[in-house]
Amino acid sequence: SSFDSLGLSAALLRAIAENAYATPTPIQIAAIPAILAGRDVQGAAQTGAGKTAAYCLPLLQRLAADDAPASKRRPVRALVLVPTRELAVQVQDTIARFVAHLSVSIKSIAVFGGVSINPQMMALRGGADLVVATPGRLLDLIDHNALSLEQVRTLVLDEADRMLDQGFADELADVLGLLPARRQNLCFSATFPASMQKLVAQLMHDPVVIDI
Ligand code: AMP
Repeated sequence: SSFDSLGLSAALLRAIAENAYATPTPIQIAAIPAILAGRDVQGAAQTGAGKTAAYCLPLLQRLAADDAPASKRRPVRALVLVPTRELAVQVQDTIARFVAHLSVSIKSIAVFGGVSINPQMMALRGGADLVVATPGRLLDLIDHNALSLEQVRTLVLDEADRMLDQGFADELADVLGLLPARRQNLCFSATFPASMQKLVAQLMHDPVVIDI
């Protein structure tokens, strides 16, 4: 199988080639067309399965295709929630590696706790198309009016099981309450134990379920 048949744009196919990805992984084959079609996706994936690119590639394609609403500050249209600073940095790196090869400008910013909030507030001043965030710092930034979630069209929960294990359930509920009801939801997790079923049921609408 190749990346050519997944519905990705020529620009992204070039970006994939520049990154020396020869063939898509199984989760990429299953998730990319579903995400491009606007479906909710529930994906079980171990680390190393290629799940980051599985959601970042179609997310970038949808952001590139879809003009941002005209406004001075770019509204956040996609939100990726992650449990740790390390994962936030890793996801942001993956996004940056693909965006670098696109002709459209897509601005992605990573925000996480454990560092000073001021540089993150400055970085958000011009807005961002995509924000990668840990939940607590995201809520702090919203309290500071540094960003709004009113225009978010796609939500990604990455490592959702770790998010709950690390006690982020309340923060997650607060974030979900600030998002528009009509949106695409993507949830990736190593496992989907019974303790996650309530969240999944609340979040997902007729999801494509991927278990590889
Ligand atoms: P992840 O499971 O998202 O943490 O990705 C694991 C590693 O696999 C990362 O270093 C990616 O850059 C790499 N990777 C993801 N997809 C592919 C692919 N289709 N071909 C080669 N490497 C990949």
